[in-house]
Amino acid sequence: MPKITNLASKIESQLPTELVNFMQVAGEVAAGQGQNLYLVGGVVRDLLLGRTNLDLDLVVEGNAVDLAQQLIRINQGKIITHPRFGTAKLQWNKWSVDLVTARSETYAKPGALPSVTPGSIDKDLFRRDFTINTMAIELNPRHYGELIDLYGGRDDLEHKLIRILHERSFIDDATRIWRGLRYEQRLNFQLEPNTLRLLKRDIPRLDTISGDRIRYELECILQEEFPEKVIYRAEELNVLHRLDPALKGNGWLAKKFEQARQLSSPTLPSVELYLALLAYPLTGEENEHLISHLRLPKSLAQTLRDSISLKNKLQPLANPKLAPSRIYRLLHGYSPPAITANSLACESPVAHRHIHLFLDKLRYAKPALTGNDLKKMGIAPGPRIKEILNLLHEARLDGKVTNKQGEVELVKWKLGKEVGKIE
Ligand code: ATP
Ligand code: MG
Repeated sequence: MPKITNLASKIESQLPTELVNFMQVAGEVAAGQGQNLYLVGGVVRDLLLGRTNLDLDLVVEGNAVDLAQQLIRINQGKIITHPRFGTAKLQWNKWSVDLVTARSETYAKPGALPSVTPGSIDKDLFRRDFTINTMAIELNPRHYGELIDLYGGRDDLEHKLIRILHERSFIDDATRIWRGLRYEQRLNFQLEPNTLRLLKRDIPRLDTISGDRIRYELECILQEEFPEKVIYRAEELNVLHRLDPALKGNGWLAKKFEQARQLSSPTLPSVELYLALLAYPLTGEENEHLISHLRLPKSLAQTLRDSISLKNKLQPLANPKLAPSRIYRLLHGYSPPAITANSLACESPVAHRHIHLFLDKLRYAKPALTGNDLKKMGIAPGPRIKEILNLLHEARLDGKVTNKQGEVELVKWKLGKEVGKIE
């Protein structure tokens, strides 16, 4: 008989009381309906590692949608169900829990989404990516807290190994290649030798994956604490080039990512900023290739385009005699993450200073007088108003006026000058 490990006290000490209570109640409700409920995946792995993870994934041998509907009555929150997939999401207070019906998966075609049939917990765990993600904890009261470890996950966790479950794993779903590198680098683990061999063999299978799915994996990587480690490893294994042949995972990137973190601290840099830095060395054409390969949404695509087009305009920004209004005109209209990426990437300290002046101050500068004020001062409605507002904006930027009174005087002077001209 294998030894039974009970993780109830780990659950109690590592997860917030509200989630612990929820799981106990959920286990009781499931049992009352004759269903078995399990906590699965990343959170179990992280409980054993002592890492914080509040993303609860529950699997029920039965019907996840029915169970979720029962639970939400107790918890008074929101529920989103997908009866076709047998999945539900529960949200209450600040918590969110995913509930899925235990299922097995078969892959009709490599890289395609799998066909799904309801199944038992063993099958559900067998469809997963790596052994360290295949562990589950029973939540029904009779076995509450007991660890289920059918595929050697705990052993691999102890030996710090990332191991797939069967030879065809990367063929079935090549996104697991990226996922494997992400776990390896995040946890400081190693790809187990046979897994590494199969990963290398199956790299060409990445071409069977849709742009949307690859983009999702890349976004997950860019939300890691040190994404450059994953990118560097991907370059080393020739995985990065499948994303785009022009991308590089070198020391320059690592330095820029680190600077981005210092700049964004205490929060992590946005995916958008990281992506702009990753794509920074690309030419316009290579960038377009990346945008279409990853099917980037409009705003992300715009940031990458802005970033590259700004890169080609950095020279004038390096002029130390540049007036603030000129700096404004050079940078205005570009997306802020694209501008930040350029400030981090540019070599010139002067350009760097100018970009920061824009981001911290110039972009917020506005005249105090409005179009209406100008009309009240006697300027006829029409393009003239816009012209004078621009003049005021410029004077503000260059510090020639600093308050409303100064603006009024500037307008009067301007009008007087023109009146003088007419006479
Ligand atoms: P993370 O800490 O990165 O969120 P996680 O383990 O919670 O890690 P998710 O992406 O949230 O990962 O997925 C939840 C679980 O679903 C994983 O633990 C894994 O068992 C399974 N899973 C996710 N993606 C795949 C995949 N492509 N192939 C097989 N199993 C997967
Ligand atoms: Mg997760």
